[in-house]
Amino acid sequence: MAQVILKDVVKNYGDVYAVNHVSLTVEDGEFVALVGPSGCGKTTTLNLVAGLIPMSGGTVSIGDRDVTDLDPKDRDIAMVFQNYALYPQKSVYKNLAFPLQMRKLPKEEIDKRVQAAAKTLDIVHLLERKPRELSGGQQQRVALGRALVREPRAFLMDEPLSNLDAKLRVQMRSEIKRFHQDLNATIIYVTHDQLEAVTMSDKMAVMNGGFLQQYDSPANVFANPVNMFVASFVGSPAMSLVPLTAASKDGRVVLTGPEGWEMPLSDANGRKALSAKSSKVVLGGRHSTIKVHKSQVPGSVPGKVYTVEPTGDVTFAQVFVSGAVVNVSVAPTFQLRPDEPVFLEFDQDRMHLFDGETEMALR
Ligand code: ATP
Repeated sequence: MAQVILKDVVKNYGDVYAVNHVSLTVEDGEFVALVGPSGCGKTTTLNLVAGLIPMSGGTVSIGDRDVTDLDPKDRDIAMVFQNYALYPQKSVYKNLAFPLQMRKLPKEEIDKRVQAAAKTLDIVHLLERKPRELSGGQQQRVALGRALVREPRAFLMDEPLSNLDAKLRVQMRSEIKRFHQDLNATIIYVTHDQLEAVTMSDKMAVMNGGFLQQYDSPANVFANPVNMFVASFVGSPAMSLVPLTAASKDGRVVLTGPEGWEMPLSDANGRKALSAKSSKVVLGGRHSTIKVHKSQVPGSVPGKVYTVEPTGDVTFAQVFVSGAVVNVSVAPTFQLRPDEPVFLEFDQDRMHLFDGETEMALR
């Protein structure tokens, strides 16, 4: 397996920059998820690594080779697509063997690799079947097998689970993760599903509008999002963001809501709030860090319950605070009613503050 390095990669179609000066290093054996909303440039980035489309600028190297000008077939990578692209008339065995026959490998070598891949993916008993005689999950495994037999230096996967139903997707998620661990494979995996990225990857590259927003481990992206986009994209329910005003008052920094309520900040948060370009500061909080009270406690902010969603283990609710929606969670025994007034206490050690003008995290 190999390291994959993108340096200052650009792809534009006229004025549309699908990929805008993206640089990132995927270490040997690492599982990296390219994640972001529709149109953010993740598939284009993957296709540039594969060599399926010409680059407008920058370089790609795989292992110690600059592959920028090489054809896809010479890059030593294997792709797995969402539609599997299996040959319907060929048996599973022949589907696996075909890419190796094209490369004119000896028959014994082909058989050895097909059997080994089939064993790894637990599809030995399916080798004589045709793709139409397989379930979605089995077809997905054959598609993985066809990539595996090529013994590539990196696997590129484009939404490989998106055609599967929800339950199978969760199952295949852990199978692909296992595949990665067992083979110590370098994998670049495109998904629009932040949960897939968080649960499967060693690192996630969060993209928006062609730009790489943040590239870090899921835990760090979750704990320290660099800006409001990343904060609201990663995590479910999303981090809530409340636009407020910061001001110094009696030697402390307070956040004020448009209705006039005040929330004093800790010294550390106060310093962050004052480092914003202007008095506009956005308060961010994840549901697990916000306490819901029925009456005012010091430092809490007033809100009004909008919706209540019991899920069994936990009840989620949406609360309006100064015109913004705040996601909270409470124990199922804690009764909440729509339109009920409540008070939210944000954990000072785990709250996030963003610059209201630049949308960047205040640190
Ligand atoms: P999705 O999840 O919807 O597949 P994506 O993040 O993979 O989205 P890309 O397919 O990489 O997004 O597209 C990025 C941007 O580039 C989009 O704005 C898209 O419209 C544009 N784009 C992609 N291919 C072309 C093309 N051949 N011509 C013009 N614009 C293109």
